[in-house]
Amino acid sequence: MAQAQANIGVIGMAVMGSNLARNLASREGNTVAIYNRSADKTRTVVSEFPEAGFVASETIEEFAASLTKPRTAIIMVKAGAGTDAVINQLTTVFEPGDIIVDGGNALFTDTIRREKAVRETGINFVGAGISGGEEGALKGPSIMPGGSAEAWATLGPILKTIAAVAEDEPCVTHVGTDGAGHFVKMIHNGIEYADMQLIAEAYDLIRRGTGKSPAEIADIFTEWNKGELESYLIEITAEVLRQVDAKTGQPLVDVIVDQAGAKGTGAWTVQTALDLGIPVSGIAEAVFARSLSSKPAQRAAASSLPGPTSKWTVDDADAFVEDVRQALYASKIIAYSQGFDEIVAGAEQYDWDIKKGDIAKIWRGGCIIRAQFLNRITEAYDENPGLVALVTAPYFTDAVSQTQDAWRRVVVAAAQAGIPSPAFSSSLSYYDGLRADRLPAALVQGQRDFFGAHTYRRVDAEGTFHTLWSGDR
Ligand code: NAP
Repeated sequence: MAQAQANIGVIGMAVMGSNLARNLASREGNTVAIYNRSADKTRTVVSEFPEAGFVASETIEEFAASLTKPRTAIIMVKAGAGTDAVINQLTTVFEPGDIIVDGGNALFTDTIRREKAVRETGINFVGAGISGGEEGALKGPSIMPGGSAEAWATLGPILKTIAAVAEDEPCVTHVGTDGAGHFVKMIHNGIEYADMQLIAEAYDLIRRGTGKSPAEIADIFTEWNKGELESYLIEITAEVLRQVDAKTGQPLVDVIVDQAGAKGTGAWTVQTALDLGIPVSGIAEAVFARSLSSKPAQRAAASSLPGPTSKWTVDDADAFVEDVRQALYASKIIAYSQGFDEIVAGAEQYDWDIKKGDIAKIWRGGCIIRAQFLNRITEAYDENPGLVALVTAPYFTDAVSQTQDAWRRVVVAAAQAGIPSPAFSSSLSYYDGLRADRLPAALVQGQRDFFGAHTYRRVDAEGTFHTLWSGDR
């Protein structure tokens, strides 16, 4: 049996696991054990990165024996059946007090189930959302761990050494018990969908409205990245738009098939929001926009449907670009506000003590939605932990007040021009719905009472009421 010498282990030597293992090994004080189902992959990693000093094992028993107690292993394998298979193996060789961490993209309800089952063996189970892709795993991701306080006490100091750092603070915090970490990672990805779709709509409107080339629009995004929109996604958008295809000499964006893929975390965010009754309309539109893009037969069949009959022109290109920038900022605030609403609702439903301000903080570095304005979110929740909607915090109220006229002009222009703007438009509708004195929901209640005697409440009296409508049967 191997001698116990590693303080942390990683299982799964595909790109994420091997990069995370290398990140761990590069930090003072860590000796990293590694294991992969197919041993050839483990051998390749050991020979490619001798400087990491990995303690490699070819069986799960050897792997467990190579870890000091409490044994701590991070699983980075294909989410789903792969994760369950590895957990089953580990529970046979680990002992009470040891810690199993699932760093894959698990659905939070699976994490709740797994945590419950593993806890019965006395072993700790931590579902940890890890964002930042392969580069993040290697250089410093944003990490969202759930699980018990006991597991966090051992794991926290290790994760703090490998997480991204933003303004001198590591981008990791104990999110809450059982599935809280994977839940928050899911919302992160949902917001990422909305952010990406909003940026794509901004690009489309500017290109079709002003005729600017992708390279010229890249310069606009570079400029935007110096202000309140500063973020990783704006930065990489400029790089994507600037890229020229080596084969054709065309902007690369013009030779990429316009059908967006998805791996499911955006859909999970929306499905969960529907169950929780939280209107995450910006995120939902972003998920649906990808679905629509990926329906070539329907798109081909509909391509002859009529568009606007009058021609749309932009008189002042600079003013239009500035309007789009402001619409993007306002819509982005709505996307985050909706995402945080879902976090609040999830925390209530599953009894998690999630500190919203801390979540915004750990998203400032390492992850895909890292952005300057996350600091404003932290400040908003620090000032008022019971904030009922992020958009109602003074900073965001100000921001939306200053941008809403431009936002409206852009949505009107998009509708007149026949340019799809589902995320811009739905965010504005959500905003107007939220701030409305009266909503036509009163009429919906009347309809419900008419056909189903569902009753309604009155504005001037307590209780529930039913009307004998003329058509009552
Ligand atoms: P992956 O392609 O999702 O999975 C491949 C790894 O899973 C291999 O090590 C494979 O082992 C192992 N595996 C699959 N089924 C298994 C089973 N039944 N038993 C044991 N091992 C099994 O790898 P990845 O892209 O590195 O991602 C790892 C995890 O991180 C996933 O959950 C992913 O969703 C998550 N994640 C990925 C990213 C990203 O940017 N890629 C970002 C955040 C999170 P073999 O070599 O033996 O086949």
